[in-house]
Amino acid sequence: MPGVGHVIPHTPLAIDFWYVRKCPGTRLFFLSHMHSDHTMGLTSTWSNRPIYCSPTTARLLRLKLQVKEKWIHPLEVGEPSLLPLDDIGKERLTVTLIDANHCPGAVMFLFEGYFGSILYTGDFRYSPSMLREPCLRANTTIDVLYLDTTNCDPNRTLPSRQQATQQIKEIIRGYPNHDVVIGLYTLGKETLLVELAIEFQTWIEVTFERIETLKVLELPDVFTTDRGAGRIRVVNRSGVCRAAVDKWNQEQPTLAILPTSRPLVSLHPMHVVPYSDHSSYQELEEFVFALKPTSLVPIVGNCVPGSLSALIPGKKRHEILVPQSVQRYMLRESESLLRSTAYTRHYYRHVRPLSPKGVVFEQESAEGEMDTENSENDSDCILVTCENDSDCILGLETWETSALSRQSLGHGIDQDGNIMSDDNNSQHTGKENDQHITDCMSNSPKNDSGSSSGSLPELNGEYLNKLENSIIKDLPFAEEDFKNWGLLPRSFVQQFPLCPLKDPDEDDL
Ligand SMILES: [Zn+2]
Repeated sequence: MPGVGHVIPHTPLAIDFWYVRKCPGTRLFFLSHMHSDHTMGLTSTWSNRPIYCSPTTARLLRLKLQVKEKWIHPLEVGEPSLLPLDDIGKERLTVTLIDANHCPGAVMFLFEGYFGSILYTGDFRYSPSMLREPCLRANTTIDVLYLDTTNCDPNRTLPSRQQATQQIKEIIRGYPNHDVVIGLYTLGKETLLVELAIEFQTWIEVTFERIETLKVLELPDVFTTDRGAGRIRVVNRSGVCRAAVDKWNQEQPTLAILPTSRPLVSLHPMHVVPYSDHSSYQELEEFVFALKPTSLVPIVGNCVPGSLSALIPGKKRHEILVPQSVQRYMLRESESLLRSTAYTRHYYRHVRPLSPKGVVFEQESAEGEMDTENSENDSDCILVTCENDSDCILGLETWETSALSRQSLGHGIDQDGNIMSDDNNSQHTGKENDQHITDCMSNSPKNDSGSSSGSLPELNGEYLNKLENSIIKDLPFAEEDFKNWGLLPRSFVQQFPLCPLKDPDEDDL
């Protein structure tokens, strides 16, 4: 499951996206909040890249994921912050964090820079007060709105959280002799718990793990880990099921309450209450109508209802010119990744000279910004430009050594590096090909021992050189072409082997 994060095209920015090798040009990482679908891929081993988030999220990040302190950069909510977008202090962005009204520490990000204005809501529950935020009031145009579309169904209405809280209170009042179990995720809805504690004058019983989180949040002192100390107990959401409820009722009459916007059926003693920390469709409409963004990107899923899209004025977004200093900034990170140990285990294919475009990056697709799925599919693509006032952009794609060998040999390259015809190739069975691949990889004569090729041998350098030379001979362009055009530095050509472009429709062998 890839999570719900996004890499912002034409920028070195990513939000809630932690697969660094899939976005090598990204330099600044932002975390909207600590729900697990937004931290997927983020671990205690995170290094070399700053993570920007709210102060509360920063504390939770240390506690829950043990991310090293030096990489966590909390930013004050509501105050614009300037962050560098290059190494020379020329290009900067302004980012302002806005309370997302979702869970503790959750924020929206407003980014302003050479790319225009981008508002990334993360998960949020709309409140009219958001539109009164100085940064949103001052901005007349949001170029791209990344919108939390969790509840984006025009056919569903949701009560406000105040109304849902009242519903929960009514249910509990109806069963004065019952204990109450509330199923929650590890973070969120703490305000509801505090309100219930005050209303029913009871401790809220929680696990040791949860109370560690609650301590960080500095909430009113209504929580305890003492079993039996209070009438209301919190358990993990996944722990509320029919069997568990039956078991609890064998010991003591117990109500189970699930505060969630998911369309589940209530069946006494399990009560599902539509208490949601995500905006309802009607709230999203109000938000989009007020902001009138130039374009809209759903954070959850791939599409938005037509009725919501219709609220967008239909203005054309201006072309984005990525400053050269920013391109170099992104490229430097890409190069350092390529040189890292992990990357030296990969080889490169798809060297594809494109039409010279100066410093203008490729236009957005008709669908708008890159979504998570697309970023997955294109995730190994990196943009490469030349060091000196370059006019070229190359797309490189990495692949595993095993894929290289299969691909190359599938095109028909024998052990001596000669290109074979498809006819020759077709004489081999799949099994024979596998053996052939193994032999070529080890660059040794047929292995008389007949040992298994269960583990892939290292590619032999000499064989690789032969392989590359044979492939380069067949390319429709030569290294000389690049040099003549001034498109590619010699060091680059020497560093990265060139391989032919693979037809995307072609089946892998
Ligand atoms: Zn969330």
